Amino acid sequence: MRRPALTPRLQPFTSTIFAEMTALAVRTSAVNLGQGFPDTDGPASMLAEAQKAIASGINQYPPGPGRPELRQAIAEHRTRYGTQFDPDTEVLVTVGATEAIASALLGLVGPGDEVLLIEPYYDSYAACVALSGATRRVVPLAEDPVTGRFAPDIEAMRAAITPNTRLMLINTPHNPTGTVFTRAELTAIAELCVEHDLIAVTDEVYEDLIYDGLTHVPLGSLPGMAERTLTISSAGKMFNCTGWKIGWICGPAELVAAAKAAKQFLTFVGGAPFQPAIAHALRHEGPWVVGLRDQLQSKRDRLVEGLKEAGFGVRPSQGTYFVCADVRPLGFTDGFQLCRELPERIGVAAVPVQVFTDTPENWQHIVRFAFCKKDEVLDEAVARLHKLTPNPSN
Ligand SMILES: *Cc1c(COP(=O)(O)O)cnc(C)c1O
Repeated sequence: MRRPALTPRLQPFTSTIFAEMTALAVRTSAVNLGQGFPDTDGPASMLAEAQKAIASGINQYPPGPGRPELRQAIAEHRTRYGTQFDPDTEVLVTVGATEAIASALLGLVGPGDEVLLIEPYYDSYAACVALSGATRRVVPLAEDPVTGRFAPDIEAMRAAITPNTRLMLINTPHNPTGTVFTRAELTAIAELCVEHDLIAVTDEVYEDLIYDGLTHVPLGSLPGMAERTLTISSAGKMFNCTGWKIGWICGPAELVAAAKAAKQFLTFVGGAPFQPAIAHALRHEGPWVVGLRDQLQSKRDRLVEGLKEAGFGVRPSQGTYFVCADVRPLGFTDGFQLCRELPERIGVAAVPVQVFTDTPENWQHIVRFAFCKKDEVLDEAVARLHKLTPNPSN
């Protein structure tokens, strides 16, 4: 017998839930609140800059670290948090946050190292840790018994750190829960990193999509963290251009160089004509992003209201594109099962949170809905969700 073609490292990661649910949504003409991408375009001036760049010949390999005007714009953009980065040595442009995360892990950890992840986690984290040969240790977010907010569990994180722990990966605002980590929570995480001499890699792609007047605190801006943190963000979520795949890493030169060592053999570079357009957007389209945030806050409210009326146990969403809901008040126990049936039953697609975890049994009852959609799409989804009758078998 020939051995299976796929390397064992990747065998747990063959299918993504998004492909499955999107295929189901298409087949049943369901409203797809599963996958998190916006259905409107980013700022017009940014789109025009990209077209101009293509027309003016910015179509060949950009420099390895990214075009200088973009690295400069990224460094300037981070000064709003009081953090300073040298655009030449401390900023690296990547093919989306996805490649930034992959390069950081591949450049910084390997066999024998442990990486601390928080679950539920963005699906690429576990796969990239596996690609690196390191081992993941996973600590769950803890649900506040009063508010239902999912919060980092500092004591559980502390308990999961071993002498082999090299790095922790922190995502705030958090996908899929919509939790925005507080300054106090991040300060406690920073103290753990300093105490155990860990590298922090942060995924801040939703840094501007935060609601109710809350603010984003980059972990790398806290005491003792600048020297040990790689901060990752991306234009996709900020400027409604998820298909452009322009991301970036900021951090101390040695850590950025480690990520760059891996990145140069993954893609080397990408997105030449999009880079000046994102530089322009970072410099000039801040007010557009504030408008996007306000729109998303009201979309969140619209969907939350609809989900509540339909009988879901809605959890607080403080940021991102997503809101999580408990399916048990409707008499269901397994969110995966429900997500498989929902498109056929009522024509709405969602994603079960258990697929983003190592302990699916603890997250079975939670389902994620995306609200980054046109109001009429959300209204249609809500109208359909109202047709969901409580599970008769329970
Ligand atoms: C969308 C997303 C990413 C990927 O960002 P790209 O720039 O599209 O690669 C990474 N992390 C989280 C939490 C996301 O939601």
